[in-house]
Amino acid sequence: MSNIALRILAVVLALILVYVLATFERAAMPRPPRTAVAESAPREFVIENARVFDGRTTLTKASIHVRDGLIVAVGEVSAPSAVKRIDGSGKTALPGLIDSHVHTWGSAREDALRFGVTSMLDMFSASEQLSEAREQRLALTPTQRADFFSAGTLATVSGGHGTQFGMQIPTVDSAEVAASWVADRKRENSDFIKIVVEDLSAYRTSERWPTLAEASVRALVEAAHANELMAVVHVSKLSSAQMVFDAGANGLVHIFQDEVTTPAFTAAASSRPFFITPTLTVIAGMAGESPSVATDPALAPRLTPEQLQTLNARFNRSGAKYPELIERSRENVRLLHAAGVPILAGSDAPNPGTAHGASIHEEMAQLVKAGLSNEAALAAATSAPAAAFSLTDRGQIAPGLRADILLVNGDPTTDITATRNIAAIYKNGSEVGMK
Ligand SMILES: [Zn+2]
Repeated sequence: MSNIALRILAVVLALILVYVLATFERAAMPRPPRTAVAESAPREFVIENARVFDGRTTLTKASIHVRDGLIVAVGEVSAPSAVKRIDGSGKTALPGLIDSHVHTWGSAREDALRFGVTSMLDMFSASEQLSEAREQRLALTPTQRADFFSAGTLATVSGGHGTQFGMQIPTVDSAEVAASWVADRKRENSDFIKIVVEDLSAYRTSERWPTLAEASVRALVEAAHANELMAVVHVSKLSSAQMVFDAGANGLVHIFQDEVTTPAFTAAASSRPFFITPTLTVIAGMAGESPSVATDPALAPRLTPEQLQTLNARFNRSGAKYPELIERSRENVRLLHAAGVPILAGSDAPNPGTAHGASIHEEMAQLVKAGLSNEAALAAATSAPAAAFSLTDRGQIAPGLRADILLVNGDPTTDITATRNIAAIYKNGSEVGMK
């Protein structure tokens, strides 16, 4: 980050470019692949003879009985013989994927679902979408869009990170306004509170942004909890992570990149419920790495031109590489995971180097590279976020849960990239097709 201002400018320009291209190409180009629910799709079926990763462990050969949007039974099932059978031989069934760090607008939810992401945790977007989002995620009807849960707007100070995108942001410039700020989010249907602690000092730049004072962070966390909302925090430094942990925050939505974790922080983070969504994919992009999903033939038919634009966009257009950022991040993930801190898979799409849906497959591979087992990486994109955010109707393949299922060819418990070999996606128990 030798010139952070240029980097920020590049982000903004990339996002504007993506928007303009999206508008332009929609008119000029053939229709991109779209998700569609087959009209005659049966609302009851059995997937049989599949390997099943249920969100926590793997059954080597099992069946899944689905009816009216819900999972009825797993393992040995006794469905009437008239019920449609889907052969799962050679395939693995996984819970629909949960991307724990996204920013949702435009076609994000359709794009995500096309890659098997059935639920998204949004860390900052327009609050106008939130009441409709609540209705959709309670329904069991066929849909072409991933469900989403959202922070709505974010907590930052005047001139701080989050205010540079041109949206009107109500800021938190003193601890005294924190309670009313949180009450406003609650009124707008925010599902949790997103707090930003970022002054850029983790990066190679002399520029500094103003950011929230510790007293404001404490007041925000306290107000969130008083409203029964979780408080999650953007950090990039270990010292910020320690501060927000001490303030009572529920989790981090980026891993810190400036230092390797200390035994003291690692022990503290594993001493109470506290999760970390590292977003290694976007950090790898900042470090100068290219995402493998951009050129993976298994995913190519599902990527729109707009998605290829964001995947191929770069934070740093000079091409400078900062390998220490991603190396320290991987080491932090390895140490914190080993200590038992829940790790959640989040892509930070659609930032440069990412695309909705596609990048969750990148993130799972990144987590394996950082030392998680394949099953732990799969859990990071399924049962772990469901547990951390109390999403009790999803994240596992279990009786009574929503029938959000990703069926892939091969075995991602031995080759994590097999999640990209998508055979079928079921959302609310209906197959999502491509047309
Ligand atoms: Zn983000």
